[in-house]
Amino acid sequence: MKAAVLHEVNKPLVIEDVSLPNPGPREVLIRTSVAGLCHSDLHFMEGLYPHPLPAVLGHESAGIVEKVGSDVNYVKPGDHVVTCLSVFCGTCDNCTMGRTVLCTDTTVKMLPIRKDMPLELAALIGCGVITGYGAVVNTAKVGPGENVVVIGCGGVGMAAINGAQIAGAGRIIAVDTNPAKLQLATKLGATDIVDPRNGDVVQQVRELTGGGVHHSFEVLGRKETAEQAFAMLAPGGTATIVGMIPFGQKIELHGFDFLRERKIQGSSMGSNHFRVDMPRLVEFYMRGRLHLEDWISAKLKLSEINEGFAEMKAGKTVRSVIMFDA
Ligand code: NAD
Ligand code: ZN
Repeated sequence: MKAAVLHEVNKPLVIEDVSLPNPGPREVLIRTSVAGLCHSDLHFMEGLYPHPLPAVLGHESAGIVEKVGSDVNYVKPGDHVVTCLSVFCGTCDNCTMGRTVLCTDTTVKMLPIRKDMPLELAALIGCGVITGYGAVVNTAKVGPGENVVVIGCGGVGMAAINGAQIAGAGRIIAVDTNPAKLQLATKLGATDIVDPRNGDVVQQVRELTGGGVHHSFEVLGRKETAEQAFAMLAPGGTATIVGMIPFGQKIELHGFDFLRERKIQGSSMGSNHFRVDMPRLVEFYMRGRLHLEDWISAKLKLSEINEGFAEMKAGKTVRSVIMFDA
């Protein structure tokens, strides 16, 4: 089968033939139909996160089960599935305390979904949607009427905005340098938009909200935007860092701000419980509350994958998907 392989950082992916063995007892072979391009893949391609090479990237996908190992009873051949990085063993301390997303088990898991869910939209749920929506609903637990800022409106940020609307947030402020993204954010639920090119982001948010927000979400992965997320909080507010800040980089905060009970936290894959969250997200789409079609910017062939990442790097796309059967 064909795969886009990363041999060296900062070099194009190479499309080549790879082979997979038959699934082991607890493994499943999936015919991948669609894979979304996530900025996390780009961070690895740019060497911002260490990873052994060569590697086949792509962790946001949907497809059809082809074969299952002898011990697998949760899915069967022919099932439509979404993949998820948030594997859990079910027996360690974190799992038994309900924090399955922090389990250190390392094999990708999948979840069967209804067959009338379009696979190219289902793929997005596997990372971008669950991460953005879950950061708002599960990690930060945004309450009705609370004010929210989302810094970085790519695939993950749009899901945070749509999630904030589902959660009943009050003001939902979208921050991005691309006017087209800000326009789409408004369609997905943003009540206000802020373009960093029009002046200091923290000051703009403070003016809009009369002193700061209850929740900010950094969905970009940069030191300066993580610092902005903390600096724009009202007393008692919480900044949630979703973006992958380059490995080894530190962020700086004013110690005084903690006296007013401001908080900062990380969010891994939206603190999901994927067997509960993913069917809910599928239902939200089916009922018209999650506007997944709106954030597919391009449907690409596997041979176009490097162009897809170049467009992402230029900040032009919300989500591009690779259609394997195209
Ligand atoms: P993306 O590239 O699609 O989106 C980034 C957005 O930021 C773009 O819309 C771009 O225009 C905007 N931007 C650029 N400069 C900006 C600035 N100065 N201020 C505001 N916006 C600016 O990325 P994505 O796929 O949505 O991923 C976002 C981040 O989330 C990445 O760092 C990714 O690695 C991370 N991520 C984390 C998890 C997790 O579990 N924590 C999971 C998935 C992705
Ligand atoms: Zn991802």
